[in-house]
Amino acid sequence: MRVLIVEDEVKMASLIRRGLRDEGLSADVATKGEDALWMAGSTEYDAIVLDVMLPGIDGFETCRRLRDAGVWVPVLMLTARDAIEDRVAGLDGGADDYLTKPFSFGELLARLRAIARRGTAPRPAVLTVGNLSLDPARRQVWRGEEEIALSSKEFAILESFMRRPGEVMSRFQLLEHAWDYEYENRSNVVDVYVRYLREKIDRPFGEHSIETVRGAGYRLRQESANGNGRS
Ligand code: CA
Repeated sequence: MRVLIVEDEVKMASLIRRGLRDEGLSADVATKGEDALWMAGSTEYDAIVLDVMLPGIDGFETCRRLRDAGVWVPVLMLTARDAIEDRVAGLDGGADDYLTKPFSFGELLARLRAIARRGTAPRPAVLTVGNLSLDPARRQVWRGEEEIALSSKEFAILESFMRRPGEVMSRFQLLEHAWDYEYENRSNVVDVYVRYLREKIDRPFGEHSIETVRGAGYRLRQESANGNGRS
């Protein structure tokens, strides 16, 4: 396992590197986000330890640029203690996990091993099916370039569909994902919301992306009816 450590504090960086090497891992150090970008682009790392506070572009921006460049190496962010916004921003920006400073080396190692198991397959923060895209963090939906305003339930249902494109989702599954146990009147609520959703994401665009599967539920088609799907 080969790890890239991105940290400008030399003492901290060499401490982590020594610890990893003692465990039999290979470790390189970058002291700037810009350096991390080209290193991660030219070497296949199994994980990156990325400090948020860096000179030049910070850890968030570094992570975003890695993901934009199609580099999906698992990223463990190092954040300041109590900076909850940092953790949220890091995870939304494509990091896989975070660790707050100061941390124990044992925990760093355990988290690194855990995220390295995710591998380097794309894990986009924005879901894309055909020309539909949905950003769970920003709660935005687009058909092509056009943004579509959805209610929170419509959004929740569409997100469920987009996490399982091409799969039949039963009404019960959709209920489970979009409603909590407080909800009592469950009879035909899914059908009603699927109708609303079609009125917003399909009809204005001449699409039929949500199919009714008789006796089973609904399915989100993976390709656009207009032939401009990207999946
Ligand atoms: Ca730092």
